[in-house]
Amino acid sequence: MHEPIVRVENVTVSFDGFKALQGMNFSMDPGELRVVIGPNGAGKTTLLDVITGKVKPVEGRVLFKGSEINGLRVNQIANLGVGRKFQTPGVYTNFTAFENLELSYQTKRGVFSTLFNPLSSSDVEQIYAILEVIGLAHKTHQKAGLLSHGEKQWLEIGMVIVQDPDLLLIDEPVAGMTEGEREKTVRLLQSIATDQSILVIEHDMSFVREIAKKVTVLHEGMILCEGPMEKIQSDSRVIELYLGRGGEGHASH
Ligand code: ADP
Ligand code: MG
Repeated sequence: MHEPIVRVENVTVSFDGFKALQGMNFSMDPGELRVVIGPNGAGKTTLLDVITGKVKPVEGRVLFKGSEINGLRVNQIANLGVGRKFQTPGVYTNFTAFENLELSYQTKRGVFSTLFNPLSSSDVEQIYAILEVIGLAHKTHQKAGLLSHGEKQWLEIGMVIVQDPDLLLIDEPVAGMTEGEREKTVRLLQSIATDQSILVIEHDMSFVREIAKKVTVLHEGMILCEGPMEKIQSDSRVIELYLGRGGEGHASH
């Protein structure tokens, strides 16, 4: 049995007494692509916040590659290999796609090495390879501000993977995307999940059906159900939760 890439053990998160996560136990295998779903307010974003160190649990432990990371700061956890892509695109609109990746890469290398060591040819090659992976090779020198919404999202995924994290956390990647963009995102995430572990939060059920291997359903800060899509879809509590509230369309933040 291999060690989980991330393990959340009996974690409770409290906001002024309100428990956003209640005794949560969650873990992922290395190289796994996991989808976490659940209605608005279920605790999905809080789960990511707890893994990245942005929010500290009042109870329980968080382990990354077997080591406890509870006490560490956000940047320390990021440096261990946890990358996060937020919901809102954070690309630099006046810089090209290439330059955005370059900036993100140099952030990882640190200011000192950036000042004194320009990018090597293998660094540049690495950036071109990522432009291929995210499907933006033909937009290498285009200003990010001119990219479509979907392309900006892929660029931002590229900006996280250029830092080479072992675990990539992505919150609602396909919100606002067209169906074609959504399908490209599925393929993109599947192609990177072989090297990296990916935890995706999503509430777009067609995306989830296309991408999912193992799905975790959160509800009121707890895991309601976990397993392959077939199991999730036939679970009466999950059906009740989704269909009972007017179907798949309700917004989640
Ligand atoms: P989801 O991402 O599943 O929609 P969240 O993890 O964002 O849910 O939120 C879970 C619950 O915790 C919600 O009821 C939300 O209002 C509450 N919450 C989240 N962050 C905070 C915060 N910083 N302060 C107070 N309450 C919060
Ligand atoms: Mg959320």
